[in-house]
Amino acid sequence: MPTPMQPDAVSAFPIMLDLVGQDVLVVGGGEAAAAKCRLLAGSGARIRAVDPAPEEALRDLAAAGDIVLAVRRFVPGDLDGVRLCYVALDDEAAASVPVAAARARGVLVNAVDRPGLCDFATPAIVRRGPITIAIATGGAAPALARNLRARIETAVPAGFGALATFCGSWRDRVAAALADRARRRLFWDAALESPAAQAVLDGDAAGGERLMEADLARAAGGLAQGPRGRASLVGAGPGDVGHLTLAAVRAIQTADVILYDKLVGPGVLELARRDAARIDVGKRCGRHSMNQAAINALILRYARAGAHVVRLKGGDPLVFGRGGEEIAALREAGFAVEVIPGVTAALAAAAGLAIPLTHRGLSRSLHFVTAHDRDGGLPEQDWAGLVGLGGTLVVYMGARTLAALTSRLLAAGMAAATPAVAVEHASLPQERRLHGTLADIAARVGAEGGGGPTLVMIGAVVALADVAGDGLRDAA
Ligand code: SAH
Repeated sequence: MPTPMQPDAVSAFPIMLDLVGQDVLVVGGGEAAAAKCRLLAGSGARIRAVDPAPEEALRDLAAAGDIVLAVRRFVPGDLDGVRLCYVALDDEAAASVPVAAARARGVLVNAVDRPGLCDFATPAIVRRGPITIAIATGGAAPALARNLRARIETAVPAGFGALATFCGSWRDRVAAALADRARRRLFWDAALESPAAQAVLDGDAAGGERLMEADLARAAGGLAQGPRGRASLVGAGPGDVGHLTLAAVRAIQTADVILYDKLVGPGVLELARRDAARIDVGKRCGRHSMNQAAINALILRYARAGAHVVRLKGGDPLVFGRGGEEIAALREAGFAVEVIPGVTAALAAAAGLAIPLTHRGLSRSLHFVTAHDRDGGLPEQDWAGLVGLGGTLVVYMGARTLAALTSRLLAAGMAAATPAVAVEHASLPQERRLHGTLADIAARVGAEGGGGPTLVMIGAVVALADVAGDGLRDAA
């Protein structure tokens, strides 16, 4: 499905304006006006200020040659040739005069502290060399913008300025060596994670140059064999973004194409690049909207075109996810496969209830069983052997065959009173739990289950569930 054009809510449209050699007018003479002049100082704009009685700060800026100050009232002609206009006047009626004049001429205007008189906002800014990170909250929470800025200041080390300059200096050389656009993008994605980038971040510019030169030569040499993509099987975890691994986040952020399942949580895809293709291959509980062969073919098609394909799968890609078939298809076509593990649903469901899946004296083994075969029925297993081990059972894809499964376990000698719990939408805000026993859990799920992805845990350890916390979310 294509990404929808319309976002959920209207928000400001960010652009980074080139003001070098452009005229910017500041109307006002107080500290707020001086602050705007100082903010504009690094932009390369020609700053003009107008006020009949400017205070010292503004006069100092004029004396230093940073701004051109006209000591008189504003006149509409001040806006001639102006790109942007700031109005920093205390009086609302006075402020509305230059605002109206600016708007009449199509000059973008911002009246300090008067959102109704602003065509644009001035965001909180984090700078790293040529990098500018701007944060705006649409006026909703300036304190939140400052808080985010502090977080970003710590998350983006100072070396990123040098890294940006370094990348800028390599752009033309990389473009000359790698004519193919997709190929070039893959090179840059890899370069930013490479030892060359790390050297630059660590302040070793010369080392970075050497490494980058070697990397580019290698990449350009490989071009002779034509573009070659790669594929990663990535575990998206049970739904909550917080359960993603850092490796998964990195893969999602650098992917050119993402093929995802219905089980992939809503926030996870938001991490993808804006221009990444996202394809819903819609698998869920065995109801395939695209069959496995078609999915394999799609992965191969994009990988052959030189893309980094991320096959994003709910939970862990190698647990009941048919990941093995995708790996086989890729290997057969000669592609290396990277697998990034994910938190499988059983682990998230157990964690949510603080159930120890193994516990001294209660459970010495853990069994993940599927209750769903190729045709939607219950696959047969050595039930007596399973029961004999006395471990914890976690049943995947069991919503429809649970009654058959529990009767097999009962017949194989498992006690009817064995505690059981069904967890639907584990890790997501809509998570629900139904508690019961081996004897009644199937009936409870049948009557009260919500139809979302559900797994069932059966075993003595289930009695250790943190029911106090669970009460908050229990469906009953
Ligand atoms: N690879 C996945 C499992 C895919 S099979 C993993 O490792 O988790 C699909 C089954 O997983 C569903 O039928 C359900 O039993 C279980 N499942 C996946 N996500 C779940 C969730 N958030 N809550 C409960 N069960 C889930």
